[in-house]
Amino acid sequence: MLGSIQNHPLLISSLITFAERHHGDGEVVSRRVEGDIHRSSWSDVARRSRQVARALDALGLQFSDRVATLAWNGYRHLELYFGVSGSGRVLHTINPRLPADQIAWIANHAEDRVLCFDVSFLPLVQAIHSKCETIQHYVALCDDANLPADSGLPNLVSYERWIGREPTDYDWPTFDENAASSMCYTSGTTGHPKAALYSHRSTILHAYAGAVPDVLDLSAADCILPVVPMFHVNAWGIPYGAALTGCKLVLPGPAMDGKSIHALIETEQVTCAAGVPTIWQMLLTHVDANKLSFSTLRRTVIGGAACPPAMLEAFARHHVEVRHAWGMTETSPIGTLGALKRKHMGLPPEERAGVLLKQGRAVFGVDMRIVSTDGREAAWDGKTFGDLQVRGHWVIQDYFKHEGRSPLDDGWFRTGDVATIDPDGYMQITDRTKDVIKSGGEWISSIGVENIAMSHPAIQIAACIGVPHPKWDERPIIVAVRRPGMDLSAAELIGFYEGKVAKWQTPDDAVFVDAIPLGPTGKMLKSKLREMLRDYALP
Ligand code: ADP
Repeated sequence: MLGSIQNHPLLISSLITFAERHHGDGEVVSRRVEGDIHRSSWSDVARRSRQVARALDALGLQFSDRVATLAWNGYRHLELYFGVSGSGRVLHTINPRLPADQIAWIANHAEDRVLCFDVSFLPLVQAIHSKCETIQHYVALCDDANLPADSGLPNLVSYERWIGREPTDYDWPTFDENAASSMCYTSGTTGHPKAALYSHRSTILHAYAGAVPDVLDLSAADCILPVVPMFHVNAWGIPYGAALTGCKLVLPGPAMDGKSIHALIETEQVTCAAGVPTIWQMLLTHVDANKLSFSTLRRTVIGGAACPPAMLEAFARHHVEVRHAWGMTETSPIGTLGALKRKHMGLPPEERAGVLLKQGRAVFGVDMRIVSTDGREAAWDGKTFGDLQVRGHWVIQDYFKHEGRSPLDDGWFRTGDVATIDPDGYMQITDRTKDVIKSGGEWISSIGVENIAMSHPAIQIAACIGVPHPKWDERPIIVAVRRPGMDLSAAELIGFYEGKVAKWQTPDDAVFVDAIPLGPTGKMLKSKLREMLRDYALP
């Protein structure tokens, strides 16, 4: 017997229709490529996203055709989020930090038909357009006054002209909620990038799950700043979650430096901000160097890479709560979040920090397990580690146009992360599988080693990598960047590990560099680091 409840498909268009009706005057504030601050509202976004849908109809785009973006976080990108997907096309957000050749490759692989780009990416678009075989239309996200002249791009039109000539009414189509809505390619550190193809259903469920108190805790009384880019994994679903809840949305455009982010937080009275650790490092450096504070910020969600303990402490000094999150392109991305349970409230600060530094508990909708080398599920004892596997409503089934081995094992997605899970269900990542350091048959967590170095006051950022060793197979070394004007020797940094970890987990050497290479999503690029230190020999 079926329940007698209505069955409406979960569609992205319903989010923007809801946002317009229930919090139409809710603010959307964007820093533009032009440098100024632009103010709009959910009604504006709804109206203009309908114009986007009509403009796509006018171009003759069919259901499921791909529309690509190369754009920062801004209101026009937001309008495309709803206009493209809502009308049944697939939004393909491209990470502009990928190498140009890779961008052309993925545009062809995705069979993009339209490319919408911020004018700051014009040189990139000009460099690749002759290689992009399927793109027929180029839309510059600006008005006619800012439209680049003599761009050489076929059918180039300004966004404002493109949508401006369309009527503002549009009936959003109804279709299967499992239809594709957007897509995102992984960075492809090995081989070609692979695409996760999200559905309307997965996106709506993910937005619901993201809004609840123990996850992003979004509400109509809040103001959220996603510093996480809308060009990678839908900015952790925040644009959809903001439409769903009516929280004020602040979009930082291209200005990710500490000074610009701090100014935006203060002037727009941001209460919650989300980003990767490297972004917060820049913000905290700026705030501390200039003796600034946060007057409205209550919470930061930190994910994409491990949150170092020193960062948790730094935010605590500013009375900002840290929520540690784990996720992947393949998991839409939210998988786990490190909110405390009631039982943790009375714990002394150090013990609470221990819980908060774990990557957190699975969000409802995501199921997780760890699998040992013998293929068996490992115990949730907080000590035994194994390969982390997940499944759930917004976890990938397979990559777009993928041939070869399925990314699933018996229905579980292999994340490529190594983790422990404690009896309370808090997962802790010890490493990417490929970064694990195996020393004398034991595994050393590179994240654990890095966190200690990063808690040294003279260290700005540090990465731990394994180097070959004749006796132990591999030994860890720490590669670090000193804070400007700070002096610290390798011996002093190694000495700092004393009493903090076992001797065999202490790095054998410290190497100082000017900068740690970062990947296209702002994470430390260890493969590049290993390449840089190819000729390094242990002392
Ligand atoms: P890419 O960097 O290739 O674009 P993703 O953005 O999907 O890929 O990154 C996913 C990976 O990032 C995870 O598998 C994990 O290794 C790492 N990661 C994400 N969040 C965290 C976290 N909080 N702590 C440690 N590692 C994390």
